[in-house]
Amino acid sequence: MSQELNLILLGPPGAGKGTQAARLVQDFRLPWASTGDMLRAAVTEGSDLGLKAKGFMDSGALVPDDLIVDLIVERVAQEDCEDGFLLDGYPRTIPQADALAEALEGLDRKVTAALLVELDDEEVIRRLSGRRVCVTSGHGYHLDFDPPKHEGVCDQDGSRLVQRDDDKAEVIENRLEVYHAQTEPLVEYFESRGLLRRFDGSRSQTEVHDHIRAALATLRLEESA
Ligand code: AMP
Repeated sequence: MSQELNLILLGPPGAGKGTQAARLVQDFRLPWASTGDMLRAAVTEGSDLGLKAKGFMDSGALVPDDLIVDLIVERVAQEDCEDGFLLDGYPRTIPQADALAEALEGLDRKVTAALLVELDDEEVIRRLSGRRVCVTSGHGYHLDFDPPKHEGVCDQDGSRLVQRDDDKAEVIENRLEVYHAQTEPLVEYFESRGLLRRFDGSRSQTEVHDHIRAALATLRLEESA
């Protein structure tokens, strides 16, 4: 019996995975890896990976599996992930999920649960198109739900707020198509393995968080029974 929490956050772009990840990481003191953040950092650095990834990201396509799989396989094998981890934005394809399962199996471990935050396409579009981030530290805002005090300026550090290139209307549509075609099959993948837990992403962030926490508490009880 293990008390490890090897968690995956699944769901369409804009469902609030990043927000939930930040909260869960605090609750359970888990290391958190967001492949989107890792790739954006690589693009900013101008590293080899960043140069290869940028074009795919800007168009809303997925970066090819071979660029991303090793990053995560190496990450989960690191010492700070021994008692668990939270992956946000990985896996996005079945081969990525298989690669993770294989890497974990080699460590005599497995995924504890895949947390699916569901949201319909219309709401995804509304949420993503209103999203703004601060150019300096990435603090997030939303024009409708969480506007800054002064238009276009970060409340926390006064930096300029911008729209991520891939949050622009024409790219959002593509990201949704990619989600349905390449990532959504993972719902069935994890469901058939008994690992899927579903959450209603149209609820408030706090409600979604409470539901996820309750589900994880139940899971731990079941595991220790
Ligand atoms: P995100 O912030 O998770 O929406 O990721 C932003 C972009 O990074 C995606 O649209 C993809 O181009 C790329 N990306 C992030 N994670 C992955 C992944 N696991 N596999 C392939 N591409 C990814």
